[in-house]
Amino acid sequence: MNENQLREQMAELGKSLYDRGLAHGSAGNISVKLADGYLLTPTNSCLGRLDPARISRLDGNGKLLSGDAPSKEAFLHLGMYQERANSAAVVHLHCLHAVAVSCLDGLNADDVFPPITAYAVMQVGKLALVPYFAPGDTALAEAVRKLAGKHHAVLLANHGPVVAGTSLSSAVYAIEELEQTARLMLLLQSHSARLLTVEQIAELNRRFPG
Ligand SMILES: [Zn+2]
Repeated sequence: MNENQLREQMAELGKSLYDRGLAHGSAGNISVKLADGYLLTPTNSCLGRLDPARISRLDGNGKLLSGDAPSKEAFLHLGMYQERANSAAVVHLHCLHAVAVSCLDGLNADDVFPPITAYAVMQVGKLALVPYFAPGDTALAEAVRKLAGKHHAVLLANHGPVVAGTSLSSAVYAIEELEQTARLMLLLQSHSARLLTVEQIAELNRRFPG
């Protein structure tokens, strides 16, 4: 896809996330990697009403080249790209059920979700929990970068998920699966759920590596 097609796709998928209640207000941001930099949704923009022409164009260091001022959460995206060379897109949302899970006590910080479904295991993998930092605290960038090498999906405590993918559509699909899994986890909290076994997870990892 060329840059204009990627801009159109960001607006189209942003609207899709917004229309289905996965993004609200000006929360959430989307980026894609270009050969010489990044496209990122502007600060205070609504994912449901992105203007492709005004999307922020950044150089390889995250400096604004054209378009509106970038999201203040740009560092979340840059940290993912710096540690994951094959990532082509990053999506960050404040989607309801994932945020609810991010506020729970007693989570396993290396692997937040219990193995509920095969799709959660395949698309989300081991979801890492990033400790809470106030919005704009640059220590959050460092905390994300530390985990990004091993996890393509991380959950910011009391905040929301950040997911990298090899394309924008795959990053969006994975964060949708993450939100769905968070919802299932909450629905099953007061039930005795039958989880996938260690052998079943190993089989999934064999059949669907990476
Ligand atoms: Zn956020």
